[in-house]
Amino acid sequence: ALPVFDALTHALTAAAAPTCRVKGVGCMGLCSAGPLVAVAAPDAALNTATLYRDVQPDDAPAVVAAALGSDNVTAAAAAELETRRIPADLPFFAYQQRLVLEHAGVIDPDSFSGYVAVGGYAALVQALTEMTPGQVIAAVTASGLRGRGGGGYPTGLKWSTVAKMPPGQKYVICNADEGDPGAFMDRAILESDPHRVLEGMAIAAYAIGANKGFIYVRAEYPLAVERLNTAIRKAKKAGFLGNHLFETQFNFDVELRLGAGAFVCGEETALMASIQGLRGQPRPRPPYPAEAGLWGRPTLINNVETFANIAPIIENGGEWFAAIGTERSKGTKVFALAGAITNTGLIEVPMGTSLRTIIETIGGGIPNGRAFKAVQTGGPSGGCIPADHLDVGVDYDSLKTLGTIMGSGGMIVMDDSASMVDVARYFMEFCMSESCGKCVPCRAGTQQMHGLLDKIARGQASHADLSLLEQLCEVVRATSLCGLGQTAPNPVLSTLRYFRHEYEQQLQLTG
Ligand code: SF4
Repeated sequence: ALPVFDALTHALTAAAAPTCRVKGVGCMGLCSAGPLVAVAAPDAALNTATLYRDVQPDDAPAVVAAALGSDNVTAAAAAELETRRIPADLPFFAYQQRLVLEHAGVIDPDSFSGYVAVGGYAALVQALTEMTPGQVIAAVTASGLRGRGGGGYPTGLKWSTVAKMPPGQKYVICNADEGDPGAFMDRAILESDPHRVLEGMAIAAYAIGANKGFIYVRAEYPLAVERLNTAIRKAKKAGFLGNHLFETQFNFDVELRLGAGAFVCGEETALMASIQGLRGQPRPRPPYPAEAGLWGRPTLINNVETFANIAPIIENGGEWFAAIGTERSKGTKVFALAGAITNTGLIEVPMGTSLRTIIETIGGGIPNGRAFKAVQTGGPSGGCIPADHLDVGVDYDSLKTLGTIMGSGGMIVMDDSASMVDVARYFMEFCMSESCGKCVPCRAGTQQMHGLLDKIARGQASHADLSLLEQLCEVVRATSLCGLGQTAPNPVLSTLRYFRHEYEQQLQLTG
C-alpha cells in the first residue's frame, strides 16, 4: 500500500487539484483484495465510498482521474480500473454493522484532529462533565457489554467491583497481547483507531477512580506500538490525557509496556507480573486483579475491543447498545477471517449472526471449488465447528454449547482437504511450546498429548493410545493452574466430538 500511497500523492500533485488529498488510513477489512483505495468525501463512512481493489502504483493516474471526474487518462486505463471497482452492495460490507470499526479505514490513525472531527473524545468530555462515575458504570452495566478478550465476563460488573475497592492507587490495563493464531482484531483496531482505545480507557479510569493506565501490547506489532505512542503523545499535548482533564480533578496518564511474545502473558496475572518487571507467569486466583492486581492494588483489565466499545455506549446510552445482538450477548463482535475462505479479513457483525452468513455471505465461501469442512473459533483454547452447525447464531453461549468458545474473535476456516487430527496436533504443539512450565499437568501433559497426537497422525497409534489421550485431556483440563493449560485439550476434545472417525481411520493404519 505504501508505494500506491506515494504514487497517488504524485499523481494528485501532477493534477494540481487542491481540493483533493490522499489520506493514509488503517484497515478497511477486506484484506484479500488489498491494497484498497477508497474515493470518498472527507471522513465519509466506508459504505458511501467508491472502493477499488488490488490497486497498483501504475493505477494512480486513473484513480485520481476517477476521483476528480476528469478524463485526463487513457480510456483503456479508466476501463481497466473500472473492472476493479468493488460494487457498493458487496455482501462483505453490506452485512456488517461497524461500531468498533466505524473509523477503521476512514480516519488517519496518526491524526488527532481527524479523530476529533468524527466525534472522537466527545464521550470522554460527556462522562467527565455531565456524569458521575456511578452513572458511567450504570450505562456500561445497562449495555450488557461482556469482555471481548474471550472470557465474556460482564464489563459493568467488573468495573463496579474495582470501583467499590477502598480509595487509593488503582490501575487500568488494556490487554493488547493478542496471541491466538489467526487473530488480528486488536492489532487492526490499534493500528486504525488508537484514540478510540485511549478514550475508552480514560472513561474506565474515571469510573473506577484510577489515575494510571498501561497498555500491554505485543512487540510483534510495531505499527500498533508506533501509532499508540503517537496517539498518547498527541492526546497529552491536546489535554485529553494528563492532569486536570477539562478543568476537573480527574488525572489520567497512560504508558505502553511491550510484551516479548509469550502467549501466556495474555493471561491477566502473568500480564501484570510482566508489567511489574517480573517473569510472566500466572499465579493462583484469588486474589483477583480487581482486589489485588498491579503492585497489589485494585486493577481493571479489559481487552482492546472492550475499551473500543465504551465511547459509543456513553454517547448513545446502554439501552441503545443492549438493543443490538442477542439476549445474553449484546452488541457486535469483530472477527478475523482466515484460512480457506475467499474474503480473508476483518469483519464486525451483530452478535447472533449465523456462521453461514459470516462464512458464505460475508466471507464469500470456500475458494478453489472445495467444500467447507469446519471453522475453528477461540484459537488454541477453542474448538472446531462442523458444517451441520453452520446455521447457529454466534454468541458466547451458543459457541459454548457447541464445545468451543468465542475467544477473542479469530475464525480459521478449513476446507475438505484438512485433516482434523493435524489441526488438533497443530494447536497442541502451540500450547506445548507456549506453556510457561510452572505447573506439571500443563508442562508435561501438553507434551504427552502432543506425542500421542503425533503418533496418531503418523498412523502408528493403538486404541490404547487414543484412550490415554482422552484421559490426559481430562486430567490436564481439571488440574492445570491457568487458562492455557485448562483449555489446551479443547481442540482435541472438539475434533474428537465431531470428527472421531478421522482419528479411528488413523488407528486402522496400524492394523
Ligand atoms: Fe504455566 Fe501451563 Fe501452568 Fe498456565 S497451566 S501456569 S501456562 S504451566
